[in-house]
Amino acid sequence: LTATTDVDWTILVELDKKHFLHPTSSIKEQQKEGPALIFTEGNGIYLKDTDGKEYIDGLSSLWNVNIGHGREELGKVSMEQISKLGFSSTFATFSHEPAIRLAAKIAEITPEGLNTTFFTSGGSESNDTAFKLVRHYWKLRGKPEKKKIVSRRKSYHGVAMGATSATGLKPFRDFTTSLAPDFYYVDSNLEEFKAFIQKEGAETIAAFISEPIQGTGGVHLPPQDYFKEIKAICEQYNILFIADEVITGFGRTGTYFGVEQFGIVPDLMSVAKGITSGYAALGGVIISSKIHNDLIELSDGLFMHGYTYSGHPTACAIALKNIEIIEREGLVNNSKVMGEEMLDGFKWLQQEHEIIGEVRGLGLMGAIEIVKDKKTNERFNEPFAPKIVSESLKRGLIHRGVVYEGADTLIFAPPLIIDKYGINKMINILNEAIGTVN
Ligand code: PLP
Repeated sequence: LTATTDVDWTILVELDKKHFLHPTSSIKEQQKEGPALIFTEGNGIYLKDTDGKEYIDGLSSLWNVNIGHGREELGKVSMEQISKLGFSSTFATFSHEPAIRLAAKIAEITPEGLNTTFFTSGGSESNDTAFKLVRHYWKLRGKPEKKKIVSRRKSYHGVAMGATSATGLKPFRDFTTSLAPDFYYVDSNLEEFKAFIQKEGAETIAAFISEPIQGTGGVHLPPQDYFKEIKAICEQYNILFIADEVITGFGRTGTYFGVEQFGIVPDLMSVAKGITSGYAALGGVIISSKIHNDLIELSDGLFMHGYTYSGHPTACAIALKNIEIIEREGLVNNSKVMGEEMLDGFKWLQQEHEIIGEVRGLGLMGAIEIVKDKKTNERFNEPFAPKIVSESLKRGLIHRGVVYEGADTLIFAPPLIIDKYGINKMINILNEAIGTVN
């Protein structure tokens, strides 16, 4: 990597403050300080800033850069696709090769029975599409009153209107004054879900949605057998199961898709992020052959849902190459092996530091709980996670702290290409960073 020296970054910082409204940010801090870091390059697990300082990208940026930064192969494939066919529509009866090939490839790698993809440009659009699809489906089946969507507290499903309405984390919902109707939340507790079905009536419930592992909420693994039991309840009451695999898809948990860890096959699956490793904006909803056939057989006319960029040729070409790289380099297995390495590192940190409570993870998704008392899991009044995150940053490691709803949690999701050396470096930095507050 080479440092960028010929740009006046102080001017860009002022332009950023004045003209750039940052997504999911502390708007006042942003106005005072401007961007804390401006990245100029990426290579492998590293990002480089304007001073030429390197950071381990310990969250794969937004849990998405699974194959790591700086992949020239993806640059080449984008250039070839843009030069050949920059854009053409997939509405109605039009199609093109990258979207067809990608849809077929997705059918090959997703669990048995999930065979057809509707393309979007990201996770929020995927979830909104899934909500509309399940309602459309029940309408076609003669049950238009089956429209409620049940999600879980601490879940994150994105920021489109439906996706926000399904998000269990309250701060995201509180951002706006009113949400989409017919969205409900339950805890990771089967009894609450069963009671909800009894109270509302299965004939009013369209679908249940869950991330296989809750990411943004703090890397929460489900209770043992939770999904098997939820799936059985859904089948019993004719409720469709939507797996939000936006983070967990494409190798993140050590299997191709998160649901494989729990031995279930959903009716619909939302994907985004790792499908292109962030090199282009793409998402999708993958539906079962059963739903697809019913949509066709029972169709009441036109399929009135589609984004201009549903199946964007360049994004699809990038996704195909990204998936080829994941397979060629064995990154799903590397995620499993390095995930175990990372968890071992967390367990070592737990021994070293009084303030580390539970540590957990699956594949390359992990979390460390900060506690005042290991035995009672009591937390500090003021969370330490933000301070630790900033100490890690000083030492060249990017990760996130979760402080929503009383949490004090450090979360991690490094690129799936990380090796033992990279994991050790992360753990050493964390050891120092945690040491500064402990
Ligand atoms: N679903 C999950 C589980 C996510 O983690 C995210 C984003 O972090 C989304 C949906 C929303 O995806 P996007 O930001 O691409 O709209």
